[in-house]
Amino acid sequence: MTTTIRSTGVIGAGQMGNGIAQVMAQAGMDVVLSDISADALSTAMALIRRNLDRQVEREKITADDRDQALARISTTHDMARVGATDLVIEAATENEALKLRIFEDLMPHLQEHTFLTTNTSSISVTRLASATDRPDRFMGIHFMNPVPVMKLVELIRGLSTSNETFDTINEVVRRIGKTAAVAEDYPAFIVNRILVPMINEAVYTLFEGVGCVSSIDQAMKLGANHPMGPLELGDFIGLDTCLAVMNVLYHGLSDSKYRPCPLLVKYVEAGWTGRKAGRGFYDYSTVPPTPTR
Ligand code: NAD
Repeated sequence: MTTTIRSTGVIGAGQMGNGIAQVMAQAGMDVVLSDISADALSTAMALIRRNLDRQVEREKITADDRDQALARISTTHDMARVGATDLVIEAATENEALKLRIFEDLMPHLQEHTFLTTNTSSISVTRLASATDRPDRFMGIHFMNPVPVMKLVELIRGLSTSNETFDTINEVVRRIGKTAAVAEDYPAFIVNRILVPMINEAVYTLFEGVGCVSSIDQAMKLGANHPMGPLELGDFIGLDTCLAVMNVLYHGLSDSKYRPCPLLVKYVEAGWTGRKAGRGFYDYSTVPPTPTR
């Protein structure tokens, strides 16, 4: 049994939240996009508009499609408006305490039928679900970055997720034209369990002086046929997010092979979190970006 989703509330308007809002609106759902930062909301709307303009220029959609999608998205700081939707997707910063606080603030405003989901890259869906009033209507919906481009969505059931919830969210994934891969609720699920330790290993390779930034990225692009080098990819994902994922793997699996590289920790401590900060393993103030080591 599935429930038709007509409206979506997206919490967090960062790299992921704005892409999620865009694809939901393009699939015909009303979207309420929220963030604690007013700047994040205005930047998100400008980005969505730019992405849709580009799709019009490339004749992938019409100007009318763009205008309709934009008209379906509204922004707010008011949790009551988010809670009034059929499906809430939490896409705020990768920090468990912060996500739990968001759910606590949101719960009094949720309608009884609302499905609650998280775009977490690594945190236990079961643990997040059990802190809410609806573990049966809660699950993980893990989009890939950039959301409008990447085809995959990982679906993660918590221990209590009902079949109705799973089927409904699976149908949403189909409606937005993406493909679902089902992952069990273990730290970092499938994609990040494999991908982020590889990025962390690339940072160790840099840390130990095996190669410089450009030789490491060049080696993996030309030697393993990866479209982006691992350090470039870390910058793209966000080094803070990569570090958070490594910490969840390290603690969640109690295995020292997942220890975060000290150099990754240092970059995050410096605020050099990658492309979104203008600096990570590359400095993005130049064209092309300059390696920082
Ligand atoms: P980001 O730093 O770009 O954006 C996070 C946003 O959350 C910011 O705009 C911030 O202002 C907002 N925020 C912080 N606290 C908030 C609160 N209390 N209420 C509302 N908004 C709040 O991060 P991102 O890359 O968009 O990641 C968001 C989530 O998506 C994380 O859970 C991350 O693990 C996950 N994710 C990230 C990627 C990726 O490649 N970056 C891929 C898949 C999933």
